[in-house]
Amino acid sequence: MSLFSDVQQAPPDAILGLTEQFKADTNPQKVNLGVGVYQDASGKLPLLRCVEAAEKKLAEAAAAKGYLPIDGLATYDADVKDLVFGEGSAVHDRVVTVQALGGTGALRVGADFLRQVNPDAKVLISNPSWENHQALFTRAGFTVEKYAYYDAEAKGVDFDGMIADLTAAAPGTVVVLHACCHNPTGYDLTADQWDQVIETVLAGDLVAFLDMAYQGFSEGLEEDGATVRKFAERVPSFFVSTSFSKSLSLYGERVGALSIVCADAEEARRVLSQVKIVIRTNYSNPPTHGAQLAATVLSDADLRAQWVAELGEMRDRIKAMRGALVDGLKAAGVDGDFSYITDQVGMFSFSGLTKDQMVRLRNEFGVYGTDTGRICVAALNDDNVGYVSESIAAVLK
Ligand code: PMP
Repeated sequence: MSLFSDVQQAPPDAILGLTEQFKADTNPQKVNLGVGVYQDASGKLPLLRCVEAAEKKLAEAAAAKGYLPIDGLATYDADVKDLVFGEGSAVHDRVVTVQALGGTGALRVGADFLRQVNPDAKVLISNPSWENHQALFTRAGFTVEKYAYYDAEAKGVDFDGMIADLTAAAPGTVVVLHACCHNPTGYDLTADQWDQVIETVLAGDLVAFLDMAYQGFSEGLEEDGATVRKFAERVPSFFVSTSFSKSLSLYGERVGALSIVCADAEEARRVLSQVKIVIRTNYSNPPTHGAQLAATVLSDADLRAQWVAELGEMRDRIKAMRGALVDGLKAAGVDGDFSYITDQVGMFSFSGLTKDQMVRLRNEFGVYGTDTGRICVAALNDDNVGYVSESIAAVLK
């Protein structure tokens, strides 16, 4: 009998487990559409030119790596606040923005702080949502339930269902919302629908937690930021998690941020003091390099312009691949309207394929997506989109 005799084997992470399976697959035509990582036209993870230039700048001014403050690199936090809420926005002095370990770290610090503020609150996530939302908020001690989101039949958002569920939620309920590029469905709300969500949040005294993991991947940095700014105009307090994993292709550097909008500057100071304790007792303070890279890109006019252009290239390439997939499915003889694939935005497409079809795609064709039918369209390219289309056609027949 050892200390760990009763420890159960945990199931493998649904998505990272797929990557393991993919690596072991000997099919020479295999394609990994499981993990949410943007790849360029040659199937490679890109090193953005703006990031490469920032790396050089940092290397030229190489300095010792001291501890950062608990809330992170001050210039980075200020740049992120400008990006998320608009430069010089009226809300700046009542927003707390702290560097975090990617979007996941931001969500977790936010969840831990929320649990302290309102331990009895429930958390509502969209049905479906990014897998880790459920796990992360559960692990932080919350009961997690779902609000209606995806309408499989209409191929879009079940907005009436969503509003009904939010309206029925108890005051203080935390509602996790995808600020843009909904993962996994690819269906976002319209500007009018966001207005109604804001009304519902205000009327029901709900706590909005906007997860912004893909700013720049729908329409552009400014356009995609509009929803958060709408909230900032109307909602006195809410949370925003930011990730640069995708937008700067800095996955492994763990660059993200948590912003908490407070009622006023004095409240913001008190909130920051508590958030610092959450961080201090977890990982003490965040790492330097990724934040320095991001701050360099965000604050240098030329590098920032280059970033905007490179984000545009990524966005356009994904859109082109959505179109190529629709064309490929038609060419492969599949009947039906696949225009929904081009209606969706962001890195994912909810293909509408069943679990059995997804399993067949993997086992017979080496095409890997999640069992829920989600495929990462940002991993398609001119060389694999034809094969993927034919494989999907084969499992649909
Ligand atoms: N939220 C959503 C909706 C995501 O899709 C992801 C990444 N897959 C994250 C948060 C986490 O981002 P990061 O890798 O920066 O932790």
